[in-house]
Amino acid sequence: MRKPLVAGNWKMFKTREEAQRFSSELVPLVTGLSDTEVLICPPYLYIHQLVEAFEGTPIQIGAQNVFWQDQGAFTGEVGPAMLESVGATYAIVGHSERRQYFSETDEIVNKKIQAVLSSSLHPIVCVGETLDEREQGKTSTVIQNQVMRGLSQINEKQAQALVIAYEPVWAIGTGKTATPQIAQEVHAHIREILSRLFGKTVANTIRVLYGGSVKPDTIDALMAMQDIDGALVGGASLDVASFATILGCKG
Ligand code: PEP
Repeated sequence: MRKPLVAGNWKMFKTREEAQRFSSELVPLVTGLSDTEVLICPPYLYIHQLVEAFEGTPIQIGAQNVFWQDQGAFTGEVGPAMLESVGATYAIVGHSERRQYFSETDEIVNKKIQAVLSSSLHPIVCVGETLDEREQGKTSTVIQNQVMRGLSQINEKQAQALVIAYEPVWAIGTGKTATPQIAQEVHAHIREILSRLFGKTVANTIRVLYGGSVKPDTIDALMAMQDIDGALVGGASLDVASFATILGCKG
């Protein structure tokens, strides 16, 4: 059984005070939430503060990005050991915005995944096709390339710490959620690739999240699909009420 994981990606939003207000409003809503693993990935600056604010609750804190070295002369970067030391448990790697605006290639993504897997953090590896690629019938090839290249040199044991997020680029921040059927088809393909790489038993333990305009009214149909094991939520994770509804909080 794969425990569902719902992760919020705050991107470059919220001030320190807004982050504090969010946590104090969410804490009372999440007590008793045990069926779903919950993660919030704020800007680096607020990781420590939110780890403390959510202590004793089921909410974990992760990073939106990570560098592939633990330390060194890499101005502006943050490595896995630093994230560990402030209490983060996950790091998103290869988000499409990193690929698009910061020229992250599959090779860079692979270096980051390897670095994260050498720490106690779990990488959430993002893959997804653009609208052009989908319209040209290239979705399967694009996904296959991103998964295979991103996970190159990862062994079966390391693979058990992986989370994959299928995030069609055309669905991110656009309000266009992939239908549950479209998402399931790609998720099943990702699991098949994982089976080829790591064997069926390991592939069946790896969670594959869906991301792309997930909202309170679309989450249930997505989660009902066999190979969808949770969600990576951008915009809707910024609002306490909508994130709590996506998590299924009873309040
Ligand atoms: C994301 O940032 O990973 C994302 C899926 O964003 P949104 O939910 O806003 O589409």
